[in-house]
Amino acid sequence: MKSFQNHTWKEAGEALTRGAVVILPVGSTEAHGPHLPLATDVIISEEMSLRAAEKLSASGLETLVLPAIAYSVTDFSADFPGTISIRKETAVSLIHDICVAVYEQGARLIAVANSHLEPEHIASINDAIEAVKRETGRPVAFPDKTRRRWAEKLTEEFRRGDCHAGSYETSLIMAARPELVREDIRLTLERVPISIAEKIREGARTFNEAGGTAAYFGDPRAASRAEGEAIYEALSEMIVASVKEALGQ
Ligand SMILES: [Zn+2]
Repeated sequence: MKSFQNHTWKEAGEALTRGAVVILPVGSTEAHGPHLPLATDVIISEEMSLRAAEKLSASGLETLVLPAIAYSVTDFSADFPGTISIRKETAVSLIHDICVAVYEQGARLIAVANSHLEPEHIASINDAIEAVKRETGRPVAFPDKTRRRWAEKLTEEFRRGDCHAGSYETSLIMAARPELVREDIRLTLERVPISIAEKIREGARTFNEAGGTAAYFGDPRAASRAEGEAIYEALSEMIVASVKEALGQ
């Protein structure tokens, strides 16, 4: 059992006292095209965390996965109903407070598993990690996929940056929760060959401004369960590698 919230307080307390590693999945409640659920980032972050926890535990590092954060800064998709954005300072406080609470209870290391890539959101994670370090002297492992080192291990669509609800994320939901993909709609979606990453650099502030008028970029029709499995393998390996690095292993 790798899921923290399914432990009793006694079991969780014992695991933390033994020096368990803890992973915090960070997602969002955000429009992901007409074919994927609002919880797409939450599902991906949880799934990669659980797979990483299995691997770490198998290698002798007991690892538990915290309840996911389901709200983040999601201003880019604020035009679409269902998207619920929070202020950056709220996001920073939330991540910071959780990390400090878990460290106070004896965790050996906390890792953040993130799948929402909006720059302001990434900044909220980095600010929270800095604050935790200042206050506790403890690091937080965070493989940031927007950095080249980790992006290199992902798909071409991801690296091009047209990766919101395109083939990359659609494949990940097909692999983890296939029943949540609206297949009839997915199969009708034309490719949107626009790099959201590039548009952000050019000054776009919303998906609509960037040309993603249906809240997706990339090629949902090219998605497959097999691609999703391969990406989860890479994503879970990133967490494993950054945890081991932070522990000097
Ligand atoms: Zn997403």
